[in-house]
Amino acid sequence: MNLFATKFRKIPKGFDLNNQEFVKRFWSHVEDISFLVDEDCWNWIGGKSKDGYGRIKILHVMYYANRISYHLYKRDLDENLLVCHKCDNPSCINPSHLYQDNDKGNQNTGRVIKPSYKGENNPASKLTNVQVLEIKELLKNKLIKQIEIAKNFNVSKATISRIKYS
Ligand SMILES: [Zn+2]
Repeated sequence: MNLFATKFRKIPKGFDLNNQEFVKRFWSHVEDISFLVDEDCWNWIGGKSKDGYGRIKILHVMYYANRISYHLYKRDLDENLLVCHKCDNPSCINPSHLYQDNDKGNQNTGRVIKPSYKGENNPASKLTNVQVLEIKELLKNKLIKQIEIAKNFNVSKATISRIKYS
């Protein structure tokens, strides 16, 4: 397989990544993150490349899961750039650990230095069991938008999304 091509593979035009079925399938390949915070790595438990990157098929073609996650939750993917890990964990798909860079930049810096997510600057807070149940209830009622729920619970929209499909 041409690894380089996969790294920059474009999502087929007209394929809606946000369709419920796909999002559900995507999250079914991720470890249970209900009780993890945004600073934690969200590990892909589905198929992986030899070098440990999560992979998922779209219309019979393989894509990198971190790239898809970036597409889903950051919305502004530059298809000419790589999606890299701040956390240096290839199987991680936590959108807040992902950033875009060109291939050259990535090679020059070698291993990316792991930033500290700890400390009071980190807005993430752990969800309790009760809070997760509350969120599920709110999602069921559909009275409040996911983004509002995320704000209320001080977590990312991706976390809410994960809970929805868990
Ligand atoms: Zn990570």
